[in-house]
Amino acid sequence: MKVAICNLGRIVSGDWHNPFVAGDTIVTDAGRIVSVGTAAADDADVVIDAGGMTAIPGLIDSHVHVTFGDYTPRQRTVGYLESYLHGGVTTAISASEVHVPGRPRDPEGVKALAVAAQRCFADYRPGGMKVIAGSVILEPGLKANDFKELAEKGVRLAKAGFGAVATAYDYAPLVADARAAGLITTCHTGGSSIPGSGAITGDHLLKIRPHVSFHINGGPTAMPDADFARVILESDMALQVCTAGNLRTTLLCARLAQQHGAFDRFIIATDTPTGSGIMPLGMLYTIAHLASLTEMPPEQFICAATGNNAKVYGLDSGFIAPGKAADIVLIDAPDGGTQSTALAAIKHGDIVAIGAVITAGIPRFVGRSRNTPATTRKAQVVRSRVTQDFAAAAH
Ligand SMILES: [Zn+2]
Repeated sequence: MKVAICNLGRIVSGDWHNPFVAGDTIVTDAGRIVSVGTAAADDADVVIDAGGMTAIPGLIDSHVHVTFGDYTPRQRTVGYLESYLHGGVTTAISASEVHVPGRPRDPEGVKALAVAAQRCFADYRPGGMKVIAGSVILEPGLKANDFKELAEKGVRLAKAGFGAVATAYDYAPLVADARAAGLITTCHTGGSSIPGSGAITGDHLLKIRPHVSFHINGGPTAMPDADFARVILESDMALQVCTAGNLRTTLLCARLAQQHGAFDRFIIATDTPTGSGIMPLGMLYTIAHLASLTEMPPEQFICAATGNNAKVYGLDSGFIAPGKAADIVLIDAPDGGTQSTALAAIKHGDIVAIGAVITAGIPRFVGRSRNTPATTRKAQVVRSRVTQDFAAAAH
């Protein structure tokens, strides 16, 4: 299916070094972006008139507590992932399946859990969202060969923070073995989030050496302020800030990353669902908080939530560029607000309105998100050759 999105007011690339693409049209075919700029839409199967809205890459939430299916045991809710898609999230990355009730704690059990989660989401897209699941929970007893086996089976992620280690320093050899097998390693940061797990601070991170410091701003309790500069200057680990954390240290981390030339490593996520709840608009709120409370421009934080996450996790999405996955979100100034464009609204501190979400080249909705305010402009399908069921419209 070929889809053309035309009449765009602005296109955000996903690359914060070069955040805008010239032109007003994006064409996708067979799940990929094929052109960005001014292509004609004549032979498209579906033509979406964006009405002057802004296109951004689909948001990538790199810290979601998935379990199995579109269900969160922590908040006893079904359908939350589909709800996040209505908040512009087109890819969710598992923060480990630690919320599975009665989750296993032995090496065979945590391996099996990661493989099962990876398999269960390999083709299952809740609401159209891509879910990258299967993050092995690091437990004492896992050996180098276990990580090799997991990598061969398609597991890509490993998580330090919830294992039965004596001290957090005991994660260092486990992370080293997981890294050697090619897994992307992630580590809880800050005060303990569940009873029994200890605080992880800058000194721990620098010895554990994960690829990603999970919620470096605190999950939900922050590490000492002085540790932020140390982690930025003494390592190359990704600096993940999460909605369900400390806002003051989120801003501190953004400013330090910018100041020390480390913004490529600055990534945005939600760390939900958790005790903090289900937050379908969490990514939009954190982008708005960062843009409105720092001097940095809003498009820079959209890129931190898209292209930066894609680079850290090696994804084929996160950018509006030919060859990339056709995951695109149309955003606009919210109806009734004081600003006239999406980017101005974000800088002002408002969350944006979402007018359409396309994932894998398939429009999942066009017109109005279930969760954001209405858009100021109108996006609509102006032509479709795709067979549809219009029965719903008859009522
Ligand atoms: Zn978490």
